[in-house]
Amino acid sequence: MAADRRLKYLEAIGIDLWVPRAASAAAAAAQPAPAPARNASVPVAPPAPSAGSAAGGDAAGIAARWETLRSQVLSCTRCPLHLTRTQGVLGVGPRRADWLVIGEAPGAEEDRRGEPFVGVAGQLLDAMLHAIGLDRRTNVYIANVLKSRPPGNRDPKPEEVAACLPYLLQQIELLQPKVILAVGRIAAQNLLGTQAPLGRLRGQVHRFGELNTPLVVTYHPAYLLRTPADKRKAWEDLKFARSVYQQLTQGAATDGHRT
Ligand code: URA
Repeated sequence: MAADRRLKYLEAIGIDLWVPRAASAAAAAAQPAPAPARNASVPVAPPAPSAGSAAGGDAAGIAARWETLRSQVLSCTRCPLHLTRTQGVLGVGPRRADWLVIGEAPGAEEDRRGEPFVGVAGQLLDAMLHAIGLDRRTNVYIANVLKSRPPGNRDPKPEEVAACLPYLLQQIELLQPKVILAVGRIAAQNLLGTQAPLGRLRGQVHRFGELNTPLVVTYHPAYLLRTPADKRKAWEDLKFARSVYQQLTQGAATDGHRT
Protein backbone atom coordinates (compact mmCIF):
# COMPACT_ATOMS: atom_id res chain seq x y z
CA MET A 1 0.00 0.00 0.00
CA ALA A 2 1.27 3.48 -0.80
CA ALA A 3 2.79 5.17 2.24
CA ASP A 4 0.53 8.23 2.05
CA ARG A 5 -2.64 6.11 1.92
CA ARG A 6 -1.49 4.04 4.89
CA LEU A 7 -0.77 7.27 6.78
CA LYS A 8 -4.32 8.43 6.02
CA TYR A 9 -5.81 5.22 7.42
CA LEU A 10 -3.61 5.37 10.49
CA GLU A 11 -4.73 8.95 11.09
CA ALA A 12 -8.36 7.85 10.73
CA ILE A 13 -7.90 5.28 13.46
CA GLY A 14 -6.18 7.85 15.66
CA ILE A 15 -2.60 6.70 15.38
CA ASP A 16 -0.19 9.64 15.59
CA LEU A 17 3.03 8.55 14.04
CA TRP A 18 5.01 11.11 16.01
CA VAL A 19 4.39 9.36 19.35
CA PRO A 20 7.88 8.56 20.65
CA ARG A 21 8.74 4.87 20.84
CA ALA A 22 9.60 5.09 24.55
CA ALA A 23 6.16 6.49 25.34
CA SER A 24 4.31 3.79 23.46
CA ALA A 25 6.50 1.08 24.99
CA ALA A 26 5.71 2.42 28.44
CA ALA A 27 2.00 2.46 27.65
CA ALA A 28 2.19 -1.12 26.44
CA ALA A 29 4.09 -2.19 29.53
CA ALA A 30 1.44 -0.57 31.73
CA GLN A 31 -1.27 -2.79 30.28
CA PRO A 32 -2.40 -5.56 32.63
CA ALA A 33 -1.34 -9.02 31.55
CA PRO A 34 -4.21 -10.84 29.87
CA ALA A 35 -5.81 -13.68 31.77
CA PRO A 36 -5.47 -17.14 30.25
CA ALA A 37 -8.28 -17.63 27.79
CA ARG A 38 -10.81 -20.42 27.98
CA ASN A 39 -10.30 -20.97 24.31
CA ALA A 40 -6.63 -20.15 24.17
CA SER A 41 -4.39 -22.73 22.67
CA VAL A 42 -0.75 -22.08 22.17
CA PRO A 43 1.31 -21.94 20.04
CA VAL A 44 -0.54 -20.67 17.00
CA ALA A 45 -0.89 -23.71 14.82
CA PRO A 46 -2.73 -23.76 11.53
CA PRO A 47 -6.40 -24.71 11.79
CA ALA A 48 -6.97 -28.44 11.54
CA PRO A 49 -7.84 -29.65 8.07
CA SER A 50 -11.50 -30.64 7.95
CA ALA A 51 -12.65 -33.81 6.31
CA GLY A 52 -15.24 -33.04 3.65
CA SER A 53 -14.90 -29.36 4.44
CA ALA A 54 -16.47 -26.60 2.43
CA ALA A 55 -13.03 -25.55 1.26
CA GLY A 56 -12.51 -29.03 -0.11
CA GLY A 57 -16.00 -29.23 -1.61
CA ASP A 58 -16.85 -28.53 -5.21
CA ALA A 59 -17.25 -24.89 -6.19
CA ALA A 60 -20.76 -25.27 -7.56
CA GLY A 61 -21.94 -26.98 -4.38
CA ILE A 62 -20.43 -24.27 -2.21
CA ALA A 63 -21.95 -21.50 -4.34
CA ALA A 64 -25.34 -23.21 -4.04
CA ARG A 65 -24.99 -23.39 -0.26
CA TRP A 66 -24.17 -19.69 -0.12
CA GLU A 67 -27.25 -18.88 -2.17
CA THR A 68 -29.45 -21.04 0.06
CA LEU A 69 -28.00 -19.33 3.11
CA ARG A 70 -28.60 -15.89 1.62
CA SER A 71 -32.23 -16.61 0.83
CA GLN A 72 -32.77 -18.19 4.26
CA VAL A 73 -31.43 -15.06 5.95
CA LEU A 74 -33.48 -12.75 3.73
CA SER A 75 -36.68 -14.61 4.53
CA CYS A 76 -35.84 -15.56 8.12
CA THR A 77 -38.62 -15.45 10.72
CA ARG A 78 -36.81 -17.34 13.47
CA CYS A 79 -37.12 -14.44 15.91
CA PRO A 80 -39.38 -11.38 16.27
CA LEU A 81 -36.70 -9.08 14.83
CA HIS A 82 -38.06 -9.93 11.38
CA LEU A 83 -41.14 -7.87 12.25
CA THR A 84 -39.14 -4.65 12.60
CA ARG A 85 -36.18 -5.07 10.25
CA THR A 86 -36.12 -3.87 6.65
CA GLN A 87 -34.08 -6.86 5.48
CA GLY A 88 -31.76 -9.55 6.72
CA VAL A 89 -28.07 -8.72 6.34
CA LEU A 90 -25.94 -11.79 5.59
CA GLY A 91 -22.46 -10.39 5.08
CA VAL A 92 -20.09 -8.90 2.56
CA GLY A 93 -16.76 -9.84 1.06
CA PRO A 94 -15.09 -12.50 -1.02
CA ARG A 95 -16.18 -16.03 -0.18
CA ARG A 96 -12.58 -17.17 -0.12
CA ALA A 97 -11.35 -14.52 2.28
CA ASP A 98 -8.66 -15.53 4.77
CA TRP A 99 -10.04 -13.01 7.25
CA LEU A 100 -13.46 -12.91 8.86
CA VAL A 101 -14.56 -9.89 10.89
CA ILE A 102 -17.57 -10.45 13.11
CA GLY A 103 -19.57 -7.60 14.60
CA GLU A 104 -22.74 -7.40 16.60
CA ALA A 105 -25.79 -6.67 14.47
CA PRO A 106 -26.89 -4.39 11.62
CA GLY A 107 -27.62 -0.78 12.56
CA ALA A 108 -30.04 1.56 10.81
CA GLU A 109 -27.88 2.15 7.75
CA GLU A 110 -26.98 -1.53 7.40
CA ASP A 111 -30.66 -2.47 7.72
CA ARG A 112 -31.49 -0.03 4.94
CA ARG A 113 -28.67 -0.99 2.59
CA GLY A 114 -28.39 -4.72 3.31
CA GLU A 115 -24.64 -4.66 3.99
CA PRO A 116 -22.77 -4.85 7.32
CA PHE A 117 -20.80 -1.90 8.64
CA VAL A 118 -21.72 0.77 6.11
CA GLY A 119 -22.55 3.52 8.62
CA VAL A 120 -20.14 5.75 10.51
CA ALA A 121 -18.77 2.83 12.54
CA GLY A 122 -18.30 0.97 9.28
CA GLN A 123 -16.16 3.76 7.89
CA LEU A 124 -13.91 3.50 10.91
CA LEU A 125 -13.85 -0.29 10.58
CA ASP A 126 -12.78 0.06 6.96
CA ALA A 127 -9.95 2.40 7.99
CA MET A 128 -8.86 -0.02 10.72
CA LEU A 129 -8.82 -2.89 8.23
CA HIS A 130 -7.06 -0.87 5.56
CA ALA A 131 -4.34 -0.01 8.08
CA ILE A 132 -3.40 -3.71 8.15
CA GLY A 133 -3.86 -4.21 4.42
CA LEU A 134 -7.42 -5.56 4.43
CA ASP A 135 -10.35 -4.54 2.26
CA ARG A 136 -13.91 -5.90 2.17
CA ARG A 137 -13.75 -6.04 -1.60
CA THR A 138 -10.64 -8.18 -1.80
CA ASN A 139 -9.54 -10.09 1.28
CA VAL A 140 -11.87 -9.82 4.26
CA TYR A 141 -15.41 -11.06 4.79
CA ILE A 142 -17.55 -9.08 7.24
CA ALA A 143 -20.54 -10.49 9.09
CA ASN A 144 -22.50 -10.00 12.28
CA VAL A 145 -23.72 -12.25 15.07
CA LEU A 146 -27.27 -11.08 14.34
CA LYS A 147 -28.53 -10.77 10.79
CA SER A 148 -31.49 -8.54 11.69
CA ARG A 149 -31.39 -5.11 13.28
CA PRO A 150 -32.52 -4.89 16.91
CA PRO A 151 -34.85 -1.87 17.22
CA GLY A 152 -33.08 1.22 18.50
CA ASN A 153 -29.75 -0.67 18.24
CA ARG A 154 -30.35 -2.29 21.63
CA ASP A 155 -28.16 -5.23 22.65
CA PRO A 156 -29.16 -8.57 21.13
CA LYS A 157 -31.23 -10.80 23.41
CA PRO A 158 -29.85 -14.28 24.17
CA GLU A 159 -32.77 -15.93 22.36
CA GLU A 160 -32.12 -13.80 19.27
CA VAL A 161 -28.46 -14.83 19.29
CA ALA A 162 -29.45 -18.47 19.73
CA ALA A 163 -31.84 -18.25 16.77
CA CYS A 164 -29.35 -16.49 14.50
CA LEU A 165 -26.03 -18.13 15.38
CA PRO A 166 -26.54 -21.14 13.07
CA TYR A 167 -26.34 -18.74 10.11
CA LEU A 168 -22.97 -17.43 11.25
CA LEU A 169 -21.72 -20.94 11.91
CA GLN A 170 -22.65 -21.90 8.36
CA GLN A 171 -20.83 -18.85 7.04
CA ILE A 172 -17.73 -19.85 8.99
CA GLU A 173 -17.96 -23.42 7.71
CA LEU A 174 -18.26 -22.20 4.13
CA LEU A 175 -15.57 -19.55 4.39
CA GLN A 176 -13.07 -21.44 6.53
CA PRO A 177 -11.21 -18.23 7.37
CA LYS A 178 -7.63 -18.40 8.62
CA VAL A 179 -8.26 -15.74 11.27
CA ILE A 180 -11.40 -14.38 12.91
CA LEU A 181 -11.44 -10.85 14.32
CA ALA A 182 -14.30 -10.33 16.78
CA VAL A 183 -15.10 -6.65 17.14
CA GLY A 184 -16.80 -5.63 20.36
CA ARG A 185 -18.02 -7.25 23.54
CA ILE A 186 -21.19 -8.76 22.11
CA ALA A 187 -19.42 -10.61 19.31
CA ALA A 188 -16.52 -11.70 21.50
CA GLN A 189 -18.63 -12.95 24.39
CA ASN A 190 -21.10 -14.80 22.21
CA LEU A 191 -18.44 -16.44 20.07
CA LEU A 192 -16.31 -17.46 23.02
CA GLY A 193 -19.19 -18.39 25.31
CA THR A 194 -18.01 -16.19 28.13
CA GLN A 195 -19.13 -13.21 30.17
CA ALA A 196 -15.54 -12.01 30.62
CA PRO A 197 -15.10 -8.30 29.95
CA LEU A 198 -13.64 -7.35 26.58
CA GLY A 199 -10.47 -6.02 28.20
CA ARG A 200 -9.67 -9.54 29.44
CA LEU A 201 -10.34 -11.11 26.05
CA ARG A 202 -7.96 -8.87 24.13
CA GLY A 203 -4.31 -9.63 23.52
CA GLN A 204 -4.48 -13.39 23.14
CA VAL A 205 -5.30 -16.00 20.56
CA HIS A 206 -8.57 -17.79 21.25
CA ARG A 207 -9.72 -20.76 19.24
CA PHE A 208 -13.08 -21.08 17.56
CA GLY A 209 -15.02 -24.10 16.42
CA GLU A 210 -14.07 -27.53 15.18
CA LEU A 211 -11.33 -26.14 13.00
CA ASN A 212 -9.70 -24.35 15.95
CA THR A 213 -9.67 -21.15 13.96
CA PRO A 214 -7.57 -18.47 15.68
CA LEU A 215 -9.79 -15.69 16.99
CA VAL A 216 -8.57 -12.28 18.14
CA VAL A 217 -10.70 -9.74 19.97
CA THR A 218 -10.72 -5.97 19.66
CA TYR A 219 -12.95 -3.01 20.38
CA HIS A 220 -16.06 -2.26 18.36
CA PRO A 221 -15.56 0.75 16.06
CA ALA A 222 -18.71 2.39 17.46
CA TYR A 223 -17.12 2.22 20.91
CA LEU A 224 -13.91 3.69 19.51
CA LEU A 225 -15.86 6.60 18.05
CA ARG A 226 -17.15 7.32 21.56
CA THR A 227 -13.81 6.58 23.23
CA PRO A 228 -11.05 7.65 20.86
CA ALA A 229 -8.42 7.27 23.59
CA ASP A 230 -8.73 3.50 23.15
CA LYS A 231 -7.91 3.63 19.43
CA ARG A 232 -4.28 3.03 20.28
CA LYS A 233 -5.18 -0.21 22.04
CA ALA A 234 -7.26 -1.22 19.03
CA TRP A 235 -4.24 -0.59 16.85
CA GLU A 236 -2.21 -2.93 19.07
CA ASP A 237 -4.94 -5.56 18.61
CA LEU A 238 -4.90 -5.14 14.84
CA LYS A 239 -1.14 -5.53 14.68
CA PHE A 240 -1.45 -8.57 16.91
CA ALA A 241 -4.09 -10.10 14.64
CA ARG A 242 -1.92 -9.38 11.62
CA SER A 243 1.04 -11.09 13.30
CA VAL A 244 -1.13 -14.14 14.05
CA TYR A 245 -2.10 -14.29 10.39
CA GLN A 246 1.49 -13.86 9.27
CA GLN A 247 2.66 -16.59 11.61
CA LEU A 248 0.05 -18.93 10.19
CA THR A 249 0.81 -18.20 6.61
CA GLN A 250 4.57 -17.91 7.05
CA GLY A 251 4.91 -20.70 9.62
CA ALA A 252 6.69 -18.85 12.44
CA ALA A 253 6.14 -19.93 16.04
CA THR A 254 4.51 -17.82 18.75
CA ASP A 255 3.55 -18.29 22.36
CA GLY A 256 -0.03 -17.23 21.62
CA HIS A 257 0.12 -14.03 23.61
CA ARG A 258 0.97 -10.56 22.48
CA THR A 259 4.56 -9.63 23.19
N1 URA B 1 -22.32 -2.45 14.15
C1 URA B 1 -22.20 -3.79 14.01
O1 URA B 1 -21.83 -4.49 14.94
N2 URA B 1 -22.45 -4.31 12.81
C2 URA B 1 -22.84 -3.58 11.76
O2 URA B 1 -23.04 -4.15 10.69
C3 URA B 1 -22.97 -2.19 11.95
C4 URA B 1 -22.70 -1.64 13.14
